[in-house]
Amino acid sequence: MLITPIPCLTDNYAYIIYDSSSKITGVVDPSEAKPIISFLKREKLKLNYILNTHHHFDHIGGNIELKKIYNAKVVGFKGDKHRIPGIDIIVKDNESWNFGNSTVKIFHIPGHTLGHICFFFEKEKIVFTGDTLFSLGCGRIFEGDHKQMFDSLNKIKKLPKNTKIYCGHEYTYKNAEFCMKYDDNNIQLKKKFEKIKKLRVQNLSTIPSSLEEELNSNIFLRCDKRELKAKLNMKNQEDLEVFKKVRDLKDSF
Ligand code: ZN
Ligand code: FE
Repeated sequence: MLITPIPCLTDNYAYIIYDSSSKITGVVDPSEAKPIISFLKREKLKLNYILNTHHHFDHIGGNIELKKIYNAKVVGFKGDKHRIPGIDIIVKDNESWNFGNSTVKIFHIPGHTLGHICFFFEKEKIVFTGDTLFSLGCGRIFEGDHKQMFDSLNKIKKLPKNTKIYCGHEYTYKNAEFCMKYDDNNIQLKKKFEKIKKLRVQNLSTIPSSLEEELNSNIFLRCDKRELKAKLNMKNQEDLEVFKKVRDLKDSF
């Protein structure tokens, strides 16, 4: 499986996914059609599928135009079928769907929106997390509540540690600054921050990350850690309460 990030709008990523054995091509979360079309033209590829993690404009904006040109099939969550433009293939939580020769497991991960899903390519160990899990961050809670987002992140935490994380936005640098503010003794985080700085000064992408790196350095995945609880003066509090606190702090960061 070949994955090419396509920068869209100001800080979005759409991802072209290509299964060379079946020659099936897809795009994940096309914010806009233009950059996708130019890539496909350049590489002489068709487009079979459009995969949407959620209904926000910056993830579905290119659906209709791409569908018209390529007759691609739009894949989206059952609960969001009324607001994913052009939806053809309706998927449910825990369902498997086939992309070429790959098996894709669907997980419903509400919180950012109520119908948010992620696409986990089982054998390749690749997950597209949209606006739920970012590198060193997590999405804002727009439609769901903290508990839903917390549970959704915990689902992702259970994937294999060497899973590659492809998220919807290049927010990593700003996220790193936030993590550093509250978890500054974390050596893994410091290392990752240095790596991110080097990439961003050259305007290079920080994506993919890996689940292992995120578990070690993403503050939103570390709300069960004693060091973090101590730092926030929340030593005896539940993990969910710590998560709420961290999410609120980030909202005003
Ligand atoms: Zn969104
Ligand atoms: Fe977004």
